[in-house]
Amino acid sequence: MAKHSSRIELSQSALASNIRFVREVVGSKSEIVMVVKANAYGHGTEQILPMAERTSVKRFAVASCHEAQEVDAVRGEDTSVVIMGILYDEDLEWTIERGIEFYVFDLARLREAAKTAKRVGRPARVHLEVETGGNRTGLAREELTEALKILREEKRHFRFEGLCSHLAGAETLATHFRIKKQIQAFETIRKRVQKGRLRPEKIHLASSAASLSLPEATYDLVRVGSAAYGMWPSPDIQNLYLSRTLGKAANPLSRVMSWKTDVMHVKPVKQGEFVGYGTSFEAPRNMRVAVMPLGYANGYPREMSNRGYVLIHGRKAPVVGAVTMNMFMVDVTHNPKVKVGDEVVLIGRQKGNVISLRSFSEFSSALNNEFVSRLPAAIPRLVVR
Ligand SMILES: *Cc1c(COP(=O)(O)O)cnc(C)c1O
Repeated sequence: MAKHSSRIELSQSALASNIRFVREVVGSKSEIVMVVKANAYGHGTEQILPMAERTSVKRFAVASCHEAQEVDAVRGEDTSVVIMGILYDEDLEWTIERGIEFYVFDLARLREAAKTAKRVGRPARVHLEVETGGNRTGLAREELTEALKILREEKRHFRFEGLCSHLAGAETLATHFRIKKQIQAFETIRKRVQKGRLRPEKIHLASSAASLSLPEATYDLVRVGSAAYGMWPSPDIQNLYLSRTLGKAANPLSRVMSWKTDVMHVKPVKQGEFVGYGTSFEAPRNMRVAVMPLGYANGYPREMSNRGYVLIHGRKAPVVGAVTMNMFMVDVTHNPKVKVGDEVVLIGRQKGNVISLRSFSEFSSALNNEFVSRLPAAIPRLVVR
């Protein structure tokens, strides 16, 4: 294969220290399940799986059966996978045969699973997801009663892996009243279910934000995405941590990802000329611009036009003009030694300087998660220490 125009480096030590931090916060009783939906938040499932397995993560969560197959192709022997979202009936047989766990939020799915498990001769490993006020997916009260009855009647064909729900935005402290209500609703359901004859293996509710801010929501297992990759779920959660530690501790989360390319071309531009498409950037003086070999088709957001920065020789170079489909330009007038082939850091550290992931979301409505999860799968990922 020809060389790609950029590369992503993944830090094993950063991932390990993020998992260690979450472990410290949630305590030893909660299992940490790492969420690897959306190609491991754009980091690359194929590389992240073995990296996380090395840090002792034993269970991974994905959004679809399609993603579960990607994980299944690279997982180790004692690693399990949970599908939290879309699973089509036609994929149920494969899912049960491979021992993949899955969420159930409607009764038809449960009945279908019982039939398939019977045919396949292996139990369906289910997590019952219950409605607690998120109003997305989740079994209503009466449906839960019926679901538990089905699980009891078809006991041989099921493993009751979990009872769970999802909080609707624990990232935002200002709306924690809604989250507190959900936790109360979940508590009521949990108590009722645990009084019954049939008990789930694990109770779970929290994603990163709740894991780091609501100890009462951590239960037996936490589903951690953003924090594992070194991203604070939101400024609120980061600020809460800072206020609790009074800013004394260093940032306990480390970015796992760095993104790099190299200079494709360097060109002098005369004062008064425009750079790239359109007229959004007119050279205020004689300049030198460096051309980058990637654009919005390669994951570099158009929102960075005339706003973003890259690092070359450890110095910031501002984006000038519009980010186009496959190229963009940066100003290197102040950095006369820049030449074709020099390393460019799009995200990460170079000498003393850093381009943060957050700088990508500050200019647009995009969340960190949105930006990273859209990084094209075609960019090569390499694991570094
Ligand atoms: C994505 C997701 C998570 C992980 O969320 P983070 O905020 O990235 O930790 C947990 N649970 C469910 C159901 C999810 O969809």
